[in-house]
Amino acid sequence: MKEVPDIIVCEGCDAICRRVPLQPREVSRCQRCGTELDRHAGDQSARILPLTVASLILFAIANLFPIVEIQLQGLSSRTTLVGAVVVLANEGMSVVALLVLATTLLFPLLQLCILFYLLVPLAHARRPAGFSTLVNVLQMLRPWGMVEVFLLGVLVALVKLGSMATVIPGAALWAFIGLTVLLTAVLSFNPRAFWELAFEPRPEDARA
Ligand SMILES: [Zn+2]
Repeated sequence: MKEVPDIIVCEGCDAICRRVPLQPREVSRCQRCGTELDRHAGDQSARILPLTVASLILFAIANLFPIVEIQLQGLSSRTTLVGAVVVLANEGMSVVALLVLATTLLFPLLQLCILFYLLVPLAHARRPAGFSTLVNVLQMLRPWGMVEVFLLGVLVALVKLGSMATVIPGAALWAFIGLTVLLTAVLSFNPRAFWELAFEPRPEDARA
């Protein structure tokens, strides 16, 4: 295996700096402009897989159970996220339906599945096939998951509906709230740490 020089390029001024081993909670800064170069990952890499699994479970609950039940004059109606998307599409709002489907369901699910696919082999010190492509895809998808925007919209709608009808929050609403918190933690994972996890020296590399 070719020796890779352990250097970091400063994002602030393009200076090339030597990477120094960091202690927990330590941060290294560019000597020229003070931009943060690197920070100790802490136990982030140990936490990220359990958080991803928990997110996947909450994701399933959030999509399989009703978000709310609305009762009005003896009639009651409940809907899941997919149900709401289907209603939007049937009402002629296909673009909105597609946006909700992509930003609330498809992209977050894809992100979580890629994370899971990457992290399980990495936990056993194996680099999964398509590693670099998938880390890049993960970065590309990052701005497109908008579960928190959806949640905010649902909460505003519930408060407004509350004066007209009886609104009973469903299991999926609580799951969405949990998912928003977990996704924030999971997706704040520094992508550089993937490369460190995947390319840290291992005994088989030393033999090659
Ligand atoms: Zn700098």
